[in-house]
Amino acid sequence: MKFFSSFRKRSPWVLHYNAGSCNGCDIEILAALAPKYDLERFGVINTGNPKQSDIFLVTGPVTYRSRERLVELYSQIPEPKVVVAVGSCTATGGVFRGMYNVEDGIDRYIPVDVYVPGCASSPQLIIDAVARALEILETKSKEIEKPFKLFGAIETIHNRLSRLNMAAKVGQNEKN
Ligand code: SF4
Repeated sequence: MKFFSSFRKRSPWVLHYNAGSCNGCDIEILAALAPKYDLERFGVINTGNPKQSDIFLVTGPVTYRSRERLVELYSQIPEPKVVVAVGSCTATGGVFRGMYNVEDGIDRYIPVDVYVPGCASSPQLIIDAVARALEILETKSKEIEKPFKLFGAIETIHNRLSRLNMAAKVGQNEKN
């Protein structure tokens, strides 16, 4: 289990979603992924599948039409996951704030781990944010792995986990 978080950190998959942006920040994300800035050097792959993603890159304010999809995509990404809000309108609504069809920042609906400033954001800031997201992802992965560490080395019988042994160790931990 020790290597689980390090593998995840070296090959994070990203889901990019436009929740209602003007496309300015989306173009910057694509520029960051392209060879000039080469975000892929961190092992990042832009995937279209939330179930295989670790980092949720969101652009734009939340519109009435996109809010359900935003929450649905977030809930489909398995734990641990990190949300990066790219651009000022993703954080606060920005230039769209207060419009009749806009609900302002995405953190009204989903928790955000990293905010990227700028209208539009720059590829350098996006790369910085993804690097920060990788650190957060590693911390969250370790938190998830902790329960296994409580049990210490789990014995196996014929290459299978011994559930009786695990149950006994859980009992001991509860008594202590
Ligand atoms: S922050 Fe500015 S450039 Fe980026 S999506 Fe919003 S309005 Fe467009």
